[in-house]
Amino acid sequence: MKPETLFLADLHLSSARPERVRLFQQFAARHARGAEAVYILGDLFDAYIGDDDLAYPAGEVRRCLRELVEGGTRVLFQQGNRDFLVGSGFAVATGAELLDDYAEIDLYGRKALLTHGDLLCIDDLKYHQARARVRTEVWKRQALGKPLWARKLYARWYRFRSFLGKRGNAPEIMDVNAGEVERVFARSGAEVLIHGHTHRPADHDLAADGRPVRRIVLAEWKEEGEFLRWTAEGYCRVRVPGR
Ligand code: MN
Repeated sequence: MKPETLFLADLHLSSARPERVRLFQQFAARHARGAEAVYILGDLFDAYIGDDDLAYPAGEVRRCLRELVEGGTRVLFQQGNRDFLVGSGFAVATGAELLDDYAEIDLYGRKALLTHGDLLCIDDLKYHQARARVRTEVWKRQALGKPLWARKLYARWYRFRSFLGKRGNAPEIMDVNAGEVERVFARSGAEVLIHGHTHRPADHDLAADGRPVRRIVLAEWKEEGEFLRWTAEGYCRVRVPGR
């Protein structure tokens, strides 16, 4: 195993973007294989309607992750707002470990906090009302109890609505709230916060509780992918070029 840990988020894989699915397969084969651990911080899928939906690309993605796990790489998955229905069926099929919305890890001696990122964007009130509603066990049980065709139809409708909703929102609402970031750092005592979701890749040096901390934002995958590679020496961003 190579002593390195990889982080990625916001691939938004779907049947509509086979080239991006190939990019992910390339990432798995060329970059992730042999790494100690791979953390997927949410929105691996553009939409996810349950572990029982094995339509493309769910099966391909599962196979990729399963191969990594069988090769000795730990795969850890955090739910995003698009794929919060990823559940134990996915974990069993792939061997991936599911993480809570906030996960603290030891990153080669540094205390790091991982999250998808939507919880940091507290100014988007409408989104958070909806989130609170759909993240309850009751809602999930009811949703997953509906037949697959009905969930597919609903997902399509939801994407359309979310598209309309986003056009109306001011861009700053979709970014993190500085106060919330500070609170999260203070609560956890972490030195590093790694998240995705906002599609604004950057490294932000901040002070929280009078300590220097860093917020690292992962990139969205588009024509090419990007992930973070950590080793004991530090980290760098690595591109996965498309063809
Ligand atoms: Mn997201």
